[in-house]
Amino acid sequence: MNIRVGFGFDVHSLEEGIPFYLGGILIPHSKGAKGHSDADVVLHAICDALLGAAALGDIGKHFPDTSNEFKGIDSKILLRRVVELLASKGYQAGNVDVSLVLEKPKIAPYITQMQHSIAEVMNTDAGNISVKATTNERMGFVGREEGVAAYAVALISKI
Ligand code: MG
Repeated sequence: MNIRVGFGFDVHSLEEGIPFYLGGILIPHSKGAKGHSDADVVLHAICDALLGAAALGDIGKHFPDTSNEFKGIDSKILLRRVVELLASKGYQAGNVDVSLVLEKPKIAPYITQMQHSIAEVMNTDAGNISVKATTNERMGFVGREEGVAAYAVALISKI
């Protein structure tokens, strides 16, 4: 089978006064996502979707949060490495579709910038990258603005 699909999910807690990276861009907001890396849930979910499509494990296997190498790292570097790993196995990414779940801020003004940022890292057209956002209708940890989550699917094919 030359075409494969993968799924990824990620979640990070939100904290006052730290930078908020989503889809490779800095989002102006009073809170940011906390993590070992820059805690970009969009890029992490995409990494896991791509790795999953190739049955190559997950982001924690390749970039362990116990390693100092990845402390505070720009997740665009992680995504680039995942794309390079897939290329080394003969795979290229097709399209990616992401659903971001957070209460605030409104993400619509940043979607185009995210698409271009992700596409550049993945060396593909922005038309291959879809980013959507929804709230959690004020329910649960996302609804209480304690965290942010992202789901992604990715299609890959054998070159
Ligand atoms: Mg993560």
